[in-house]
Amino acid sequence: MSGVPQPKQGTKPKAAKKRRKAKPSTDKAVATRLHSLIVRDYATGCEAAGMFDIDCFGALQCAHVVPRRFAATRTDLTNARALCLAHHAHVDKFHLMRQLVGGPELDRLIAKADRGTREFSGLTPTMWWRAERERLTDIARERGLL
Ligand SMILES: [Zn+2]
Repeated sequence: MSGVPQPKQGTKPKAAKKRRKAKPSTDKAVATRLHSLIVRDYATGCEAAGMFDIDCFGALQCAHVVPRRFAATRTDLTNARALCLAHHAHVDKFHLMRQLVGGPELDRLIAKADRGTREFSGLTPTMWWRAERERLTDIARERGLL
């Protein structure tokens, strides 16, 4: 044996690994996907059509009113608007959601987001996402989306 360190067997260069885009499997990921599906299904078109001197362009997207990082409002169907790609990008870039949502509605959503899931529901995060997944699955089934 020489004193030269050998590379570990089975070690592959990181660049060779490709990330596979998996279907959402966690309750949170599934609930988030269903929420988007339902929000876009309810919409009859871009909810900002004709606003901000921008023509609608691209597919409808689920635009969150309160950012999606807040669990308590992430999959609340009242916390989203269906916007085309162009309006969604514009509204996010210039923080214009306030112009699409009434003040009292916005205040209610912010208060709900601030309270968090535990205080709002008494559920642990795991229980919360399971319940949200079940609730949104029922709605999606009723609407023929599943
Ligand atoms: Zn639009």
